[in-house]
Amino acid sequence: MIGIERLTKTYGHGAGTTVVLDGLDFTVGTGEIFAVVGPSGAGKTTLAQCVNLLERPTSGSVTVNGVNLSRLTERQLRVARRRIGTIFQSDGLYSRRTAAQNVALPLEYLGVTAAESRNRVAELLDRVGLSSRASFYPHQLSGGQRQRVGIARALALRPSVLLSDEATSGLDPDSTASIVELLKELRDDLDLSILFITHEMDTVLQVADSVARLERGRIVESGRIVDLLRDPHSVLGRSLRPRRDAEAAPAGTERWFVGYTHSAVPADWLIRLAADLDSPIHLLGASIETVSGETVGHATLAVPALEPGRIEAAARALGLDARRLPAPAGSAPALAAAALERVA
Ligand code: ADP
Repeated sequence: MIGIERLTKTYGHGAGTTVVLDGLDFTVGTGEIFAVVGPSGAGKTTLAQCVNLLERPTSGSVTVNGVNLSRLTERQLRVARRRIGTIFQSDGLYSRRTAAQNVALPLEYLGVTAAESRNRVAELLDRVGLSSRASFYPHQLSGGQRQRVGIARALALRPSVLLSDEATSGLDPDSTASIVELLKELRDDLDLSILFITHEMDTVLQVADSVARLERGRIVESGRIVDLLRDPHSVLGRSLRPRRDAEAAPAGTERWFVGYTHSAVPADWLIRLAADLDSPIHLLGASIETVSGETVGHATLAVPALEPGRIEAAARALGLDARRLPAPAGSAPALAAAALERVA
């Protein structure tokens, strides 16, 4: 488990002080993948450096499995860092060493015997699906495979925490998907706490259990992915939804957006909604999927003009949040509304 409490990091002194992390609080549970997203300059890298104590926090604490790292001496810290595996965007492999020799590095530093190291390296390469590439050099491996070697090396000292700093950024979609699957497998098999720092929202949706958004050194929103997706007011939830254009609404109808707000939405909600409203409903666009084993979804509908309160109430009874969308610019209703505004 990783516990971050009132973590603050500033650079400089007096009037020249820059506050890079401003009192962060969050916990990454055992067996949890916690993503941190945010724009460039938000403080993500600084957070990663404070978690593996490459940077000392100015105040606040970082606790890994109950040990407050901020209180340790340099020597104790070197030992404690073994409990934290780190993977970066650049795989950081030594080009003159084979995959196996790269994975063996942390074991060599610890003075593990050659026989022990060989067994452990074989086990680690097997774990990341690269047994057949043990003697390959980094330039003979794909980007995704190099990242797998990096993960195997990060696991060499049996860490309880994995820190991933933009580890999938720059990989093609297939390699990203395979690294995501590997991280989830490791979370489940080894009960790791994984702090996953990224700027890629698609990857967050695929990999994380929870997410926090960092902006100018502060967490502005956080929660379980499923809860955020189901919360119609969540900015993070909205930015996590896949973006797809819906079809245009037929003449004489209005566009409505509906989102799943809990787990008990019946699969035949569209038919039920049409029956409840005694009205045809056109489906213009939809995305229904399973995230962390739970169904989430949203849809854009075209509904003949009815009392909005009726549509909202009928949707609510089915576990859906419904809101009417403004008519698209340039459409007949939008032009009519604009003309009325001009007259007024
Ligand atoms: P991100 O990873 O989200 O892009 P960083 O953690 O790299 O953000 O940087 C956050 C802010 O902290 C930036 O404005 C950056 O200029 C500042 N910063 C980072 N390191 C230092 C440093 N050593 N001295 C002064 N400012 C720094």
